Formats: sequence, structure tokens, C-alpha cells
Amino acid sequence: MSNSSERLIKFLKILEKIYDQLSEEEAPVKMMRKVKGKDPYRALITTMLSPRVKDEITYRVADELFKRAPTPEKLAKMEIEEIERILKPLGLYKQKARNIKLAAEKIVNEYKGKVPDTLEELMKFRGVGRKIANIVLSIMGKPAIAVDTHVYRIIKDRWELLENAKGPLDVERFLMENLSQETWGKVNLLLVAFGQAICKPQKPRCEICPLTDECPYYSSKGKGVRKGK
Ligand code: SF4
Repeated sequence: MSNSSERLIKFLKILEKIYDQLSEEEAPVKMMRKVKGKDPYRALITTMLSPRVKDEITYRVADELFKRAPTPEKLAKMEIEEIERILKPLGLYKQKARNIKLAAEKIVNEYKGKVPDTLEELMKFRGVGRKIANIVLSIMGKPAIAVDTHVYRIIKDRWELLENAKGPLDVERFLMENLSQETWGKVNLLLVAFGQAICKPQKPRCEICPLTDECPYYSSKGKGVRKGK
């Protein structure tokens, strides 16, 4: 086992303990998990609504949408104007309204009302890229790891486990190669919660982080951040 692999596994074990202690205010991704539940339809639609929006706002909007459209059939039948009205607090709401309506119609017409469970099929939906597809697959219990900005930043820039990564796909492959398949489903959730609450993009809260002893970012820059420089 390589040094990077050992460090990754050790860090994730610590993150599991941290996750349980975080509130939904500190880590809004926990709130998002509640609205997505285990329902692939809710997981897909909520994740399609989430780009460039704070999780707490996505959560509120998705919750309202699912009261009106608890199934793909109901969403497919909704008027676009009504969907836009519900989605208005979100950025790019018109585009997102069109994409989720198209997605619901596709699920009903081409997949007999069930969200498909492969990366290839999910990526045929307009507005669904690799990251969204992988989040949905993880929630469906399929082997997948979604790499978003939190995951990418922490693995590459903070923990420096894959300094030469050229994009999210390199990090996704690294995680898959170094973690057992049973753990893939929780990797995104643990890292996103940690990134929202502690290892924040602008000002990481190193002063409360239990990883300072082994964190390369803290050794080089974090001490300065800690002093408020
Ligand atoms: S020590 Fe600071 S930079 Fe390193 S993982 Fe913790 S919060 Fe992030």
C-alpha cells in the first residue's frame, strides 16, 4: 500500500467521526441527503438543481417542488411556468426548470418511470454531467464516486495526495484505485461535509481540525491562515 493510500484511508476514518458531530447548519449537505433520501428520482432532480446554489437554498426549493411533484409522472405533467416559479430562488432557474421537466419526461417515456442506473444512460440527460450522474449512482447504492470542488480541493490542494491531478477524473480514478468499493458511496458525503464545515475553500478552520499534524497545506500555509494572515 502506498503512502498516499495509507494517508487517504486514515484521513477518511477521522472524517467519519467528524461527520457525526457536524450540525446541518455547519454542513448543509446533511440536509440535502434528507431531501434526496434513497429515492433515485429525488436524488437526480435535487442534484440537477444544486449547481451554483447553496445547499440550504436547494434543499428548500427541492422540498417545495416535491410537494407538488412527488413522482416523475407528476413533474412531467407540470406547466413549465409553474416549475419556473418554484425554482426562481435558484441561479439559472429557467434552464434548470427546462432540464428537470425534460428529465421527468425522459424517465416516463423512455425508462418506464424509473431513473436509469448507469453512468452512460444518466449522462444522456440534458444538464447531467459526470459529477451529477455519480452522485445519483452513489445514492442508488451503485459503485461510484462523485468529485466536486470540495473533494478536488481537499484531495489535491489540501492533503496533496495527488499533486499532478489535471482534473476531477484523475481524482475520481485515484479514489477508486485506493479505496475498497464498499466505501465509495460515502466518500463524497464525508469530504463535502468536511469541506463545508472545516476545510473551507477560502479560510480553512485549521484551528479546530484534527488533521493539522499530517496536513501538508497546514504545514506550508495553514499556520499563516490560523494566525489570520
Ligand atoms: S489542517 Fe486545515 S487545510 Fe488541513 S485538512 Fe484541516 S482544515 Fe484543511
